[in-house]
Order: sequence, then structure tokens, then C-alpha cells
Amino acid sequence: MTEKLRFRDPDLAKRVAEKIHDVAPKEGIVKICHVCGTHEWTITHFGIRSLLPANVEVIAGPGCPVCIVPASEIDEAVQLALKGVTVTCFGDVLRVPGSKMSLLDAKADGADVQVVYSVSDAVRLAAKEPNREFAFFAVGFETTAPSTAVEIQGKPPKNLTFLVSHRIIPPAMKLLAEMEDLNLNGFIAPGHVSTIIGLKSYEIFPQKYGMPTVVAGFEPLDVLFGIYMILKQLSEGNPRLENEYKRAVSWEGNTKAQESMQKVFSVVDGNWRGLGTISSSKYVLNAEHAVYDAHLKHDVKVEHGADIQHGCKCHLVIIGKIKPTQCPLFLKACTPQKPVGACMVSVEGTCRIWAREAAADSAS
Ligand code: SF4
Repeated sequence: MTEKLRFRDPDLAKRVAEKIHDVAPKEGIVKICHVCGTHEWTITHFGIRSLLPANVEVIAGPGCPVCIVPASEIDEAVQLALKGVTVTCFGDVLRVPGSKMSLLDAKADGADVQVVYSVSDAVRLAAKEPNREFAFFAVGFETTAPSTAVEIQGKPPKNLTFLVSHRIIPPAMKLLAEMEDLNLNGFIAPGHVSTIIGLKSYEIFPQKYGMPTVVAGFEPLDVLFGIYMILKQLSEGNPRLENEYKRAVSWEGNTKAQESMQKVFSVVDGNWRGLGTISSSKYVLNAEHAVYDAHLKHDVKVEHGADIQHGCKCHLVIIGKIKPTQCPLFLKACTPQKPVGACMVSVEGTCRIWAREAAADSAS
């Protein structure tokens, strides 16, 4: 049996679900939060919530790297494109709403916006046309930030600048842990991000907040084991940091990637769509690499944007306060074909994931 199939074994999943029922408290609500679009897909697609006791909730936190890009940063990318700079970006950023328009709208208005599959593609495009100005809109968490850093260390052509919109996950988790009305009892920490930053980055959650924290992989059994480990810690009254995803995540993480990021970026307070400013949660280019900063070279800076469109509840979906189906626009005015809010745009957005599963259910 391949490793993938092993982590999808239905009999084993049933046995873990039984253990979850055994160990879960019989009274009161337990709320476990994950912060990863891929975890949300696994949980929704494989119906993991239906296997849990009624009093154990698993909610989706701000784990979609595209959904949390604030409108002001989309507006900056749009400004750049409308100034005649060729803006390169990943495909799922294209339709994320800015205050007035998305990058796709700017493209429809004649701006040059090109989808790339990696930052290296942006470097290649810029090298091919040295007389044209290019910018790469660098979006993502600690998973994608190292590739931006590595390309910048490689001294890309001077006609390529970077609009750095990378965000850092643990500060967002701290914000959630401190939201009293969210009443969280534990975290499933994101597998991909953790391969880079390592288990050590989450020590604060059991130590300071008393929250069981388990790094988990992305297969259904990874997630079920993660939930079981959190519930077991709660039943023992001994919150700690555990690693379910040992096959990919180490205590230290990827130290080379961390070094690259430290050499290229500084950490500043960052605005997250729907969440406001989170202390020390954003990477910007440091002084040594300011020559690659699109803000400075092309004079773009937008301080405030309109993050949430009228009627959209993304600010509540992003912190798991409501389910997508509780938004009155879900699959009515807001669909994957015509998204109103950022959570319906990216394949990692909670609303988009729920919409896809709803479509699959109605087709079956
Ligand atoms: S369904 Fe659409 S409008 Fe409602 S919260 Fe989700 S993205 Fe926003």
C-alpha cells in the first residue's frame, strides 16, 4: 500500500474516530482551530466533521494565503499595472477583490498582468525583456516566502521589482488564541508552513495560552490523528506541543530557507484582510534589498483599502466564527464563478472549498 493510501485507510479512520469519541469530553464544547486551506479541504472533502462527537468543532482559521491579502495591497498591484508595469502573479491572486478592482479587472482595462507558476518564471520574463518594467506580486505564508528570498539573493534583473505581501502564521495564531469570544481549546498547526519554520515556532501556544498544539499532515488520517492527540492532551489536562507530521516536519524546520528569509526580509506589523493589523506578521524587503522594492521604484503606496465588500462575511469566515453557509450571499450572489469576497476566490479559501463540495454533493 502506498503511503498516501495508508493515510486514507477507511478501517483505520473508523478506529481513530472511535478513539476520538472515547477521549472527547462528554460535556461542553471543544473548539479546535486549524490554519491551513489544505487542512480545510481534507476536512470538508473527506467529511471528517461528520465523524466527530457533536460537541467537538473544528473551525478554519486564516489559513488561505490569498484570502488574507488586504485590499490595500491588491490596490498597490493594480496601481502598478495601470502605471504600465507588467505585474506577474500566481493565478489565484488575479480575481481577489481590491477596493475598486481586481488585477483581472485591470487586465481587462488593458494593463499587462501575467500569471506565472513560480517566481523564477517572473525572473525569466524580466530577463527576456530588459527594456520593460516587471513586478512580481509575492503572496503567501512562510511556505512560499523562501522562494522569493532565494530569487532576490540570486540578484534578479534590475527591471524586476517585488511587491512583497508574505505573511507569517504564528502571530495570526496568537491573535486567535487571545480572542476571548472565540474560546479556542487547541490548534492543528499547518503542515506545509511547519516544514519551513519547524515545530519550535509553536512552543508559545501550550506554554503561554495552555493550548494543545499539534502539527498535522494533510491526509484524512493525519487530521484525525491530530484531533485525537489534541483531545487526549485535553483529557489529561496536559497541554503540549506534538508532531503528528514527523515524516516532513522537524523541530528546527528548514534552516536554509529560514536563513534566506532572514537575509532578505525584515519583519513588520502587517494588515490582514478582515483581521486588521497583526504585530510582527509581515515580511518586507530589508534595506540591503530595497533596490528591488516595487513601492520605492514605482512610487506606489496605498494605506487603506476596502477589505470587505457589502454583505460579505469573510472577516467572520476567516476566523471560523461563522461557516460559509451562514453568509447570506453564499452560492447566491457569491459563487466561484462570480466571487464577492476573497474567501470564494482561491482554491484554499474556505467559502470556495465549501462551494466546491456543495457542487460535488449535488452532482452525485
Ligand atoms: S460566501 Fe462570498 S460573500 Fe459570503 S463570506 Fe464567503 S466570500 Fe464573502
